[in-house]
Amino acid sequence: MNADLVTKRNIKGLTLDQLTALMLEIGEKPFHARQIYQWMYQKGVRDFQEMTNLSNDLRNLLSESFSLNAVTLKAKESSRIDETVKYLFAMEDGLFVESVYMVEEKRVTVCLSTMIGCPIGCSYCATALMGFSRNLTAGEIVDQLTLINSLGKKPVTNVVFMGMGEPFLNYENVISAANILNSELGPAIAAKKITISTCGIVPAIYRFADDGHRFKLAVSLSAADDSKRNKLIPINRKYPLKELMKAIEYYTRKSKRRVTFEYILIKGFNDSPEDAHRIISLLGSLPCKLNLIPYNPNEYIGYKPPDESVVDRFIQEVYQSPFTVTVRRSKGSDISAACGQLYVREQKSNG
Ligand code: SF4
Repeated sequence: MNADLVTKRNIKGLTLDQLTALMLEIGEKPFHARQIYQWMYQKGVRDFQEMTNLSNDLRNLLSESFSLNAVTLKAKESSRIDETVKYLFAMEDGLFVESVYMVEEKRVTVCLSTMIGCPIGCSYCATALMGFSRNLTAGEIVDQLTLINSLGKKPVTNVVFMGMGEPFLNYENVISAANILNSELGPAIAAKKITISTCGIVPAIYRFADDGHRFKLAVSLSAADDSKRNKLIPINRKYPLKELMKAIEYYTRKSKRRVTFEYILIKGFNDSPEDAHRIISLLGSLPCKLNLIPYNPNEYIGYKPPDESVVDRFIQEVYQSPFTVTVRRSKGSDISAACGQLYVREQKSNG
C-alpha cells in the first residue's frame, strides 16, 4: 500500500458544493471548484498537474495535500468474441472491486460495484463467496467509470449499479455517485441511462420513491414464489414478495416510472412453464419490463443456464403477459464477466 496516498485526503467523490467549501478552507477562490470538478469527472485527468487552467501554485498545493485517484487498475480481461472488458480495480486500502464494460452498437454500458464483497449472499453470485468487507465511497464508485473512460475506449453512455454489492445498502454514496455521473460538468450521463439494481431492500425502495430520484430502478426477481426466492436471494426471508411488490407498486405510482425485473434463468430450478405463469400472475398489470438472463455459468457455483429450447419455451410463455419482455444473452461469456468471478479467480491464483 502506498503510505503517501493513505495520509492524503482523497477528493474524488466530492460534490461541487463540497469542493467549493474545500477551496474556501484552503484559502482559494471558490470558482476553482468548478474547474477541478470538470477536470476530475468530465475530462478524467488522473494527476493534479494536468489541470492546466489552475496556477502552478494551486496545482502543487493540491498535489501535496490531496489525492485524486480512488481506484487503480489491477487486472483486466478482454473478451475475444465481443468488446466486453472486465476490470479489477484496487482501492487505496489495497482491497479490490470489479467493473464490467460492455458495448452493444452505440450503447456503451459499465456495470459498477458499490461494495467490496456483499452481505446478501445470493446463491447464484460469485461475489457472495467473498463475504462483505465494506461499502465503497462515492469517489470509489465514480472513479471506476472515470478511469475506464480515460483508458481510451468508446466513452460510457449507460451505467448500471449491478456489480459487486447491494446498492441500496450503500444508499447515500450510490446516490451521490449517480448525481455526479449525471451532472452537466461531469460525465453528463442522462438520468434515464443510469440504473440502480436492487435485490429488494424494501425500505430503500420507499425512500428512493419518496426522494424523487430520476434514475431507473431494476429489481432482481429470479423467482416468483417465496420458497424458491428464499433459496436464491436470502433477503427474501426479511422482505418477502408480497412486501416487495407493495413497495414497487408504491414506487411506480409515485415516480410514474416502470421498474425492470431481472430474472436469472437457472436450469431445472426456475425455468418451467409454471415458473413463467407465476411471474405473469405476480406482476399482473404493473407497468414494468421483464429482463430474462440465462445464467452465466462459472467454475465456482453449480448452477447452469437452461438449454436454448427451454429458454425459448419460457419466452413463449411469458410473451403472453401484458408487460414488455427482453432477453439478455450474457456478454463476454468467454471471460469471467459476471461480477465477482475475476476477483474470486485472482484470489485463488494468489493463494
Ligand atoms: S447478486 Fe448482488 S445482492 Fe446478491 S450477493 Fe451478489 S452482489 Fe450481493
